[in-house]
Amino acid sequence: MDCPACGTHTRTLETRRAEAGAALRRRRECPGCGQRFTTFERREPLMVVKRGGRRQPFDRAKLLAGLVRASHKRDVDPRDLEAIVEGIERAGHAGGGELSAERIGELCLEGLAPLDRGAFLQFAGTLPGPVPVDLQNPRKYGESGGTDSVRSEEDAARPTPRERARGDN
Ligand SMILES: [Zn+2]
Repeated sequence: MDCPACGTHTRTLETRRAEAGAALRRRRECPGCGQRFTTFERREPLMVVKRGGRRQPFDRAKLLAGLVRASHKRDVDPRDLEAIVEGIERAGHAGGGELSAERIGELCLEGLAPLDRGAFLQFAGTLPGPVPVDLQNPRKYGESGGTDSVRSEEDAARPTPRERARGDN
């Protein structure tokens, strides 16, 4: 946005969440006159579509609390849980401002799978209905470092292209 004093385009010094994630607070500075000021940007609340079509505002704190509970005594960095919630908020805003409760559950599971299997299973147990088929085997997503690390005996014995190139020189 432009500086209210001189009209120069300002730059953002710092962005923080405010009002429990419903707003962004930005510290701005004008490169023209040096004035500093703060802006608040409020977003439309994300809506959750429940089974049966009922809508309710997305409760960021409640979802995060659920993820924290599922990760109790597990080796999970709370910042990774925050990141899952932020990813869900991004997906919701990108998708027109609403997400189904079911989709939110799936996104949580997708986020937890590579972090910790115990937390994944714990969280899956709190969701209504079965775990989506493509998430039933969390090993697929992590645990041993992803599918790339699972090379068959045959693959492992075969030289990588780089090794082959070195051999030819
Ligand atoms: Zn200015």
